[in-house]
Amino acid sequence: MPPKTRKLIDTDRYKRLVETSNDLIWSVDAQGRFTFVNDAAARRIYGYSAEEMMGRPFSELMTEEQARQDFEVFERIKQGYKAFNYRTIHLRRDGTPVHLSFNAVVELSPTGEVIGTTGTATDVSDLVRYAAELERSEERYRLLFENATEPIGVAQDGRIVFFNRAVIDATGYEPDEIRSLPFTDLIHPDDRAMVVDRHLRRLRGETLPSTYVLRIVRKGGETRHMNLSGVSIVWDGRPATLNFFSDITARVNAEAELEFQAYHDPLTGLPNRVLFADRLNLALARARRHHEPIAVLYADLDHLKRVNDTLGHTIGDLLLKQAALRFRSTVREEDTVARFGGDEFVVLLSRVKDGGVAARVAEKLIARMNEPMEVGGHTLRVTTSVGVSSWPTDGDDAETLLKNADNALYQSKEHGRNTYRMFAPSMNERVQRRLSMEQSLVKAIKTSQFSLAYQPQHDMRTPRIVGYEALLRWNDEDLGDVPPASFVPLAEETRLIETIGDWVLGRALMDARRFPRHARLAVNVSAIQLRDAKFPARVARLLTAHDFPAGRLELELTESATIADDESIVSVLFELRRMGVRIAVDDFGTGYASLSYLRRLSVDMVKIDKSFIAGVGESPADSAIVLGIMGMAHGLNLLAVAEGVETEAQRDFLSVAGCDIAQGFLLGRPLPIDELGL
Ligand code: C2E
Ligand code: MG
Ligand code: MG
Repeated sequence: MPPKTRKLIDTDRYKRLVETSNDLIWSVDAQGRFTFVNDAAARRIYGYSAEEMMGRPFSELMTEEQARQDFEVFERIKQGYKAFNYRTIHLRRDGTPVHLSFNAVVELSPTGEVIGTTGTATDVSDLVRYAAELERSEERYRLLFENATEPIGVAQDGRIVFFNRAVIDATGYEPDEIRSLPFTDLIHPDDRAMVVDRHLRRLRGETLPSTYVLRIVRKGGETRHMNLSGVSIVWDGRPATLNFFSDITARVNAEAELEFQAYHDPLTGLPNRVLFADRLNLALARARRHHEPIAVLYADLDHLKRVNDTLGHTIGDLLLKQAALRFRSTVREEDTVARFGGDEFVVLLSRVKDGGVAARVAEKLIARMNEPMEVGGHTLRVTTSVGVSSWPTDGDDAETLLKNADNALYQSKEHGRNTYRMFAPSMNERVQRRLSMEQSLVKAIKTSQFSLAYQPQHDMRTPRIVGYEALLRWNDEDLGDVPPASFVPLAEETRLIETIGDWVLGRALMDARRFPRHARLAVNVSAIQLRDAKFPARVARLLTAHDFPAGRLELELTESATIADDESIVSVLFELRRMGVRIAVDDFGTGYASLSYLRRLSVDMVKIDKSFIAGVGESPADSAIVLGIMGMAHGLNLLAVAEGVETEAQRDFLSVAGCDIAQGFLLGRPLPIDELGL
């Protein structure tokens, strides 16, 4: 093809290219006025036709501010650049901005002066908008990520490579430290193996629950519980995990607290019955496997109730706490000490080599508890009774072992407390008997198997009857006649005595209306009844109901050490005496008789115990005791009563000695009301 033809074709082609170009193709002269623009692009980009743009200065297409900036660019260009590219914002005909990317070539005259500039301009408005949008959405994600209160981090190659502010707060480390520390350093040592194992399994493609709990260790050592959910991602082209943490320490602690409460005694923090049973079962399983005996020690603080009643529950609680510490410090670390409530502590001794071990521990416990205790300004001495049962001899399961240790405890209490007893099978029978008697007692109350016998009391000087003592009788269809001495203690222990006592008093007052007008009624009451602050009011109501004068009622209270210390009893007795009721101390001389005791209780009479009366005239010691008690009674202005007078000799001795009132088989046996000959 001849060159000329080719040039023609080329010119046409260029023309077409220029006309159809999306980009603006332009030329300006040295003054910046348009000398050429392609019409289609000019219309599309600016909304002007090529004709309209021709001869107009560049600067008219932009804001003044933009024109100043562009002018500076042009100045720099003139100083040496030949071709350049820059971005600027022009205004369309309708005033809206259009982002343009300019490519330009400077046209120079043969002498090197700038005669114009020519180039292309691409409408990049869309690109700019996309970029802005992208930036905006990135900004949004960044905001979300940064401000998330829960820690989020990307882990890769064992390190946290990307993380938010919450990670810094959660770990307490500086960002640089977080990036440089191996991830495992942040994990609690006990959880590291688990986390690594999960990681490896995930890499092997196993599907694992995506959420799990782990502990992290903050800078400084504090442990926090975290819920972690992780997802596998690709980060910078390589595998990584994206981890979302949430701090569940508060919840875990609350749960631990609840769990602790469910298995521990709130006062002492010792395991409770539930946890003890669990430990005992575990110990039994191990004992069977290794053939190592174990022992259960059931301990009971004697007279805790007295401390509670006289010094208050605060002191009682403090005492229990100290007792718990003593228990704990007396046995080995591996032994369990539990509190079953009240004054009951139970110890589990595992790996007991021989039978002597449990006995020695019981002795040690009792001795340790006997040491004086400083509690809230009081010095208290606590005595403890302990019952011991052992595996394999005394039972094969937790329940039996506990029951038998409790049986043995009951025996040690029967034997004067502050001692221990090893379980013996015979105890079961006794316990059985006791249990069935308790059931019979309950039945006796319901079916009114009780009755009263009355024994006369004689004035020693004028041998006439001055009163009758009501004595409780129980005839059970199976057990026959049960003497009060064998069921009253049980009734006291089970508090059935309150019901029984009320019945006795009501019944006796009813019967007493048949007594001669001057005769008094004596009724035995238990200390348990007198601890009830409402007792005097009940007595008053019954007196009114039966129209019986208070001055003719005598209440007999068996002497015991605890009574004078018991504030509630002292005030109940005081109230009864204020009502006019007389108070007698029964079985005087058997317990802890003392002058101050009698003074403190402010009573009206003492009944000298029949064991001393039995010896008067024969045993010089008994005679001396009886004389001594009588002298003391008279010195305090109290009446002296002798009970259990069986012989003439006894009566004569007592009469000479100045005894006021006598009672006994010699003078009259206890008889039902109908047989008294009234
Ligand atoms: P207590 O109050 O000292 O009663 C005297 C006990 O001595 C009675 O026994 C009576 O039968 C017995 N006795 C009377 N004269 C003689 C005698 O000459 N020789 C002998 N060896 N014994 C004599 P009892 O009825 O078996 O009562 C025993 C204890 O049971 C009473 O001793 C009292 O402490 C208690 N008791 C009896 N009735 C009641 C009651 O209604 N309520 C309470 N809380 N206790 C009661
Ligand atoms: Mg009596
Ligand atoms: Mg008596």
